[in-house]
Amino acid sequence: MNILVINCGSSSLKFQLIDAETEKLIAKGLCERIGIEGSQLVYQPTGKDKITTVTPMEDHTTAVKLVLNSLTDKDNGVVNDLSEIAAVGHRIVHGGEKFAKSTLITDEVVQAITDCNELAPLHNPANLIGIAACKELMPNTPMAAVFDTAFHQTMPQEAYLYGLPYEYYEKYKVRRYGFHGTSHSYVSNKAAEVLGKKYEDLKIIVCHLGNGASVSAVKNGKCIDTSMGLTPLEGLIMGTRSGDIDPAIIEFIAHKENKSIDEIMSILNKKSGVLGLSSNLSSDFRDLQEAYESGKEEGIRTIETFAYRVTKYIGAYTAAMNGVDAICFTAGLGENSPFVREMICSRLGYLGITLDKEQNAKRGEDLIITTSDSTTKVLVIPTNEELAIARETKALI
Ligand code: ADP
Repeated sequence: MNILVINCGSSSLKFQLIDAETEKLIAKGLCERIGIEGSQLVYQPTGKDKITTVTPMEDHTTAVKLVLNSLTDKDNGVVNDLSEIAAVGHRIVHGGEKFAKSTLITDEVVQAITDCNELAPLHNPANLIGIAACKELMPNTPMAAVFDTAFHQTMPQEAYLYGLPYEYYEKYKVRRYGFHGTSHSYVSNKAAEVLGKKYEDLKIIVCHLGNGASVSAVKNGKCIDTSMGLTPLEGLIMGTRSGDIDPAIIEFIAHKENKSIDEIMSILNKKSGVLGLSSNLSSDFRDLQEAYESGKEEGIRTIETFAYRVTKYIGAYTAAMNGVDAICFTAGLGENSPFVREMICSRLGYLGITLDKEQNAKRGEDLIITTSDSTTKVLVIPTNEELAIARETKALI
């Protein structure tokens, strides 16, 4: 059973075709600069070279059309025709309080996702365009919506409410939602499997450290807290996002620099995080690590502040769960940087953590990176959101 997984951004579309029985990747690719000059499709059937096609894509429907043409192409295609695609799974960023689970897409579901647009104005409208494009081109193929927020809907009220007038929650649903839920769910489940323990018996902290970064506390198989909030701006220091700050800073800087709220929000989202902290050296940890190792102050202060914030969240979530059995690292940085993992773990001795340096140096597989006598285990679990979406979609159809 082949499932097409679609992750639609405002000017991009990532896709994977996955055999949901064997869980093998059949082909994957990316459409970039949709609606902008210089758009291109990169398509890669598994085991073959990437094929890059520079071609105009005026909208997402054109992009989906090109993707489907590639998948069914006589020479480089992977299926004979579209009937071999059993379903489409869409990544949807915000499901609000309405969606605690993935769901098959109906007109009502589309309306409910549209109702959440206000909560994720950069993401949900793009996700909806992807749904509309697929519906137009594959009207009889079932589609599922898999939400980034759904896994976090089990958070108790004490974790999702802010210390704000309660009427803002009642009127506008201002609360913590959390994101990267598909990844937190996939990684925490996988950690239980790797440890050979029951998911329901464990207290797990997942550190999803990519360009966007978030931590979650998963107690007895349910998310009980997570670091991102109403929007993906809260929590850890990220590539370009500030994470937690004193909200009064917004007014303070607005006055000092004579900037509007929109301008300040843009700075908090695009010019802050490790990019801003490193005086614009880089938002990429590879560059920052290089700077750190060559003794550059920008690299040192940035990586240490980043690692300190992660450590603080791990401490907070250990307290929230009254203990922790396993801490998992995942996503671009979490999976690929032994250096940052070591820096974080070196601050966690109080949890009975001793790093196994040889294990920590490995890459690309599920790993336990603590010594066997460590009372809390630390794992590296490569995330696979697309596979998780394909699994959810398969279950729904
Ligand atoms: P996104 O949030 O865009 O999905 P990713 O999970 O792909 O992000 O993570 C991208 C980030 O991971 C990069 O910006 C970089 O900081 C970090 N990264 C990727 N590979 C490495 C590496 N080998 N060493 C250190 N950091 C890495």
